[in-house]
This record gives sequence, C-alpha cells and structure tokens, in this order.
Amino acid sequence: MKHRSCLKRRKRSRFAVGHLALAYILGVGSAKVSKTSFNTPAALVLSIVPDVDILAPFLEHRGPMHSVIVMLVVFAPLFVVYHKKAVPYFLALLQHVLIGDFIGGGGVQLLWPLTVQPYGIGIAIRSQTNVGIEWIAFLAAVIIIIKTRDLTKFFQTHKSNLLLSIPTFTTLLPTLASFPLGVPFWLVPPHVFYTVVFSIAIILAVPRVFKTFQRIRTSVDLQAYVLRGKVLTHTTAPSQALTPFRVLPRHMTFFANSPDVFHRDLTKQSISLLKKC
Ligand SMILES: [Zn+2]
Repeated sequence: MKHRSCLKRRKRSRFAVGHLALAYILGVGSAKVSKTSFNTPAALVLSIVPDVDILAPFLEHRGPMHSVIVMLVVFAPLFVVYHKKAVPYFLALLQHVLIGDFIGGGGVQLLWPLTVQPYGIGIAIRSQTNVGIEWIAFLAAVIIIIKTRDLTKFFQTHKSNLLLSIPTFTTLLPTLASFPLGVPFWLVPPHVFYTVVFSIAIILAVPRVFKTFQRIRTSVDLQAYVLRGKVLTHTTAPSQALTPFRVLPRHMTFFANSPDVFHRDLTKQSISLLKKC
C-alpha cells in the first residue's frame, strides 16, 4: 500500500527546472513592472514550496499545499504589510500550480478545501512535449538572467544565497538519487546547470554569514560594556564599532543586563574597539 502511494506520488511529481524558471521570469518581470525590489533566491524557494507535500505522508500530493485558496490565505497578511512588494513572490508561488503542475503530471486540487476536484491538462511528465516545455522555460530564464545581469548575483557574497540550499536539493536529488523521480536524459543539463550555479552561490555566502555572526557578537559585547555604565558617554561618538547597536535584535539585549554573561563574553576584540571610541 505504502509502495503504491509512493509510486503515485512519483507519477504526479514534476521536475523543479520548469518551476524555478517560471518563478524567476514572472517574479523579475512583475518586479520590474511594479518597480519593486526582487530577491531571486527567495522566489526560487517559493516556486517549489508546494511540493513539500511529497515529503509529508499525511498530506496528499497536489492536495492542500497546491490550493490557490490556501496560497491566498497565507499571502493575505503579506499583501497587507508589503503591498505590491509581495506580488512577485506570490506569482513565483502561484506559477507552481496554475502553470507548471496544471500542464503536466496530473490534476491539482486548486480549490481545496471547497472541492477536491483535480484540475489540469495532465501531459505526461516524461513525454517529449513536457521535456520541450521545461527546456523552453529554462532557456527563457537563462536568457533573461544573463541580460539582467542577475546571474552575477549568484557569484557574489549575498547572505540570501544560502536559501538556495533548498532548491539545490530539488535539482540534485532527482539527478543523483532519482528522488522523488529520476530525471530524463534530456533534462539532465538544466538540472546540472542549476545545481552548479546554486552550489557556488551557497559556498560564497557562507563566509559572509560567519562574518555577520561575529559582528553581532561584538556588538552584544559592546552593548554589555556600555550598559555597565563606564562607557555610556561614548555611545554618542560616531564610532563605526557602535553602529551595530541600532540593528541589534531586541531579544539579545538580555545579555547586556546579565553581569555574568558580560564578564564571560567580553572579548579582546570588543575591548580594542572600545578603546577607539
Ligand atoms: Zn507540485
């Protein structure tokens, strides 16, 4: 029984290549039209989020997680807070069910929980037609990403590139481990392209994240020292070292009020920065 359900999931699964490409095209296009900022890694993650139901045995694949109604409910607060800035990300998510899964691999429960009726054209996922569609979407995305120079962002030290570890699994696992389904020969190149580009972006982002943690740690130590009283007047100095105070997360301020933590965590680095004040 479990085996049959697994096979059914595989049959109705779809490759990430098309989803990633469509999310980028729609996201970057709508961001340009609405003149808003666009974070490519975040949109790429959203493009494959509905397929988390493949990993959850209690969720029907292409069921609740693929419902437009559920997506609207989840995004409603984001529209209230971010207005048109949320549109590119919503489209990146929506393409998954209204274009990608609608075209191939079987029906999608677009209107769950109102109805469990599956909707879609249902082109076989391994058919030449589907492989052709995936390639067209992939090539269009590659052309745009090169023209807009967004490709260069993958080779820079952006912290948000760490998000790409999620889509990397969706291109790497089908290619190497045939999970949740094996990749047809003609779709291997786009999978390899995404895997290589994403992997480079992740490797380059790691040192940047490490540096940020170090900076936060120093700012916590500095704040602890300042709140002890002795250096309080120095907070008005236009010191670079004190700048992180303004962005220090609120939940970390308890460190500053704890003398034990203060003594333990005051590093040589923070002392030398304080001397500059
Ligand atoms: Zn899906």
